[in-house]
Amino acid sequence: MATYRTLDRAIPAPLVSDGEGVLIHRAFPNHDLSEFDPFLLLDHLGPVDLKPGEAKGFPDHPHRGFETVTYLLSGEFEHRDSFGHHGVLKAGDVQWMTAGSGLVHSEVPGRSLVENGGRLEGFQLWVNLPKRDKMLAPRYQEYESAKIPTATGEGIEIKVIAGDSLGVKGAVETHIPIQYLHFKLADGARHIQEVPRTLNTMIYVISGGIFLDGGFIPEYHLAVLKNDADLVEFSASGDTQVLLLSAEPIHEPVARYGPFVMNTKDELAKAFEDYRAGRMGSINVPK
Ligand code: FE
Repeated sequence: MATYRTLDRAIPAPLVSDGEGVLIHRAFPNHDLSEFDPFLLLDHLGPVDLKPGEAKGFPDHPHRGFETVTYLLSGEFEHRDSFGHHGVLKAGDVQWMTAGSGLVHSEVPGRSLVENGGRLEGFQLWVNLPKRDKMLAPRYQEYESAKIPTATGEGIEIKVIAGDSLGVKGAVETHIPIQYLHFKLADGARHIQEVPRTLNTMIYVISGGIFLDGGFIPEYHLAVLKNDADLVEFSASGDTQVLLLSAEPIHEPVARYGPFVMNTKDELAKAFEDYRAGRMGSINVPK
C-alpha cells in the first residue's frame, strides 16, 4: 500500500481557442483524457497579455445539468444570465455557478480589460451534478478574493476555494465532496495534503513545476493521481502555482453534448428542445 498517492499519468494542456477566440490551455477534454468523474472540463484561460480591443469572451450560450466554476487570477470578466443575474469577477474572485435546470449566460471580458488591455489569466472547471441535482434551480456562489479563506505553511500559501487544507475550510458549498485548492509555493516548498482515497484527484501545474511520486510535472500539465493512498505529497521546483482538484466520483452514465451534460440521450434531446423553445430564457440587455 502506498503512503502517498502515486502518479497515474501526466498529460499536457494544449493551446486551443474557444468562444470568440479566447486562448486557452485545455487540460481536458482532449485526446488524452475525455473526463475525470465528476470533472468534465478544465480550462486555463491564457495567460495572455491583451492589447486594447483584443479581449474576447463567450457570448450568450446555455448550460444544463452541471456546474461551472470560474476563478480569475488576473483580468476582469463580466457575466449576465437569462434570470437577470449580473456581476463582474476580478482577480482572485471565484464564481461557482450551479446551472442545474438551465439558463443562458454570457461571460465576456470586463470593460477596463477591453478598453485598456491587460493580462488575462483564469480557470474554468466544469463539475458534473448527480442525477438527483441536475434539475435544481440555478444558483450562484460568488466570493471576492478577500473572502476566500487562505491557509499558510512553510513557503506555501493556499487559497481554499472548496474543501479544506491545513485546518482551513473553504467557502463554497458543494453537492458532493470536492476540494478546489490553489497553491503558491516557494522553490523547494513541500506539501502533504490529506485527500481520502475515494476522491478522484488531479493537480494542474499553472507555472513552475512539481516533483511528485519521483516524477517531474512542468507547467501547463495535468497530473492524474491513482486512488491508492489518503495523502498527496509534492514539492515545488522554482516558484510554482498549482491547482489541486479532487472529488467523490458520481459513477452515473454521462450523456454530454456541447453545453449540456445529462444522464441519457433523451434528456440531452430534451435540453436542446427546451433551449430552442426559449425555456432557458434569453439575455435582454441594451447593446
Ligand atoms: Fe458558460
